[in-house]
Amino acid sequence: MKCRKCGETAVINMRQHKLALCADHFGQWVPAQVEKSIHKYKMFTPEERVLVAASGGKDSLALWDILLRLGYHADGLYLGLGIDGGFDYSGESQRKCEAFVSKFESSNNPEVASPDSWTPTLHILSIPELYGASIPQAAQRVQRGRGKPCSVCGLIKRHEMNRIAHDLGYSALATGHNLDDEAAALFGNTMTWQVGYLARQGPVLPAQDGFARKIKPLCRLYEREMAAYCLVRGIDYIYEECPYSLGATSIAHKELLAELERRSPGARQNFYLSFLKAKEEGFLDDHQVPPARMHACERCGQPTTAPDLCAFCRLWVRVKSQE
Ligand code: SF4
Ligand SMILES: [Zn+2]
Ligand SMILES: [Zn+2]
Repeated sequence: MKCRKCGETAVINMRQHKLALCADHFGQWVPAQVEKSIHKYKMFTPEERVLVAASGGKDSLALWDILLRLGYHADGLYLGLGIDGGFDYSGESQRKCEAFVSKFESSNNPEVASPDSWTPTLHILSIPELYGASIPQAAQRVQRGRGKPCSVCGLIKRHEMNRIAHDLGYSALATGHNLDDEAAALFGNTMTWQVGYLARQGPVLPAQDGFARKIKPLCRLYEREMAAYCLVRGIDYIYEECPYSLGATSIAHKELLAELERRSPGARQNFYLSFLKAKEEGFLDDHQVPPARMHACERCGQPTTAPDLCAFCRLWVRVKSQE
């Protein structure tokens, strides 16, 4: 197969776009798509500083790379969760993030458009060091060994990412959710008609009451395109998923949508983009949840609807009481 732009051998064929590209042209096409999404959904401006939630996986490192190549001021945040899984999952993920950012530390990297010799920073924060328990340990104590640690993990990650974005003055928190992730989440929310979640789902969640703006610049790119981008760009990422993700419902939804996509190229993209269009046209306007009355948590100061402590602080009180 030949590249549509130059006739060289193509490295990827994107059937949903009827577009095959060589390594060079694909490496240029991806950032151009991300730039379009940033503008289309008014994610942030060139003057704003963005914090990328870097997990060491392909999506977040590709996202960080793309934002830097586009000339944006994007730093990274790695949250050490203390997950081992028999292969030091958290340690390995952190090393991938460190290796990624170290490429930019050697100055004069022509890939980074930084007129003031600015280089990106990786903020590293270890949950076990800061709070005295890893995610699995915290979950074990509050759930008494039942179920996966994912809800505890999600709560801690949301709180800490928001805290760092706010404390360090970033305008937006960028996550590496790709179109496959977003379509699977949409599918899950639609299966159970979670209209509240559907009303909030989208490429941008505006800042509100002390919560940082959240953006998903990769939301129009397929997961396989992000893997191909990492290959083309020589980005080394952690291949293994978190050991607790095995058997997750979202993975089953992804597989179903992948089967639909195989039979009908573009089905997954149409599903997600038509949803965004319907939302823009007001289809969920009657289901917008009115903003809850927030006040500052007595302990950490982050916004909460609870009368005294936020869910994050209550969690750690319970974890400590089980020590
Ligand atoms: S799979 Fe669960 S435990 Fe692992 S990172 Fe995701 S939310 Fe956390
Ligand atoms: Zn080409
Ligand atoms: Zn709190």
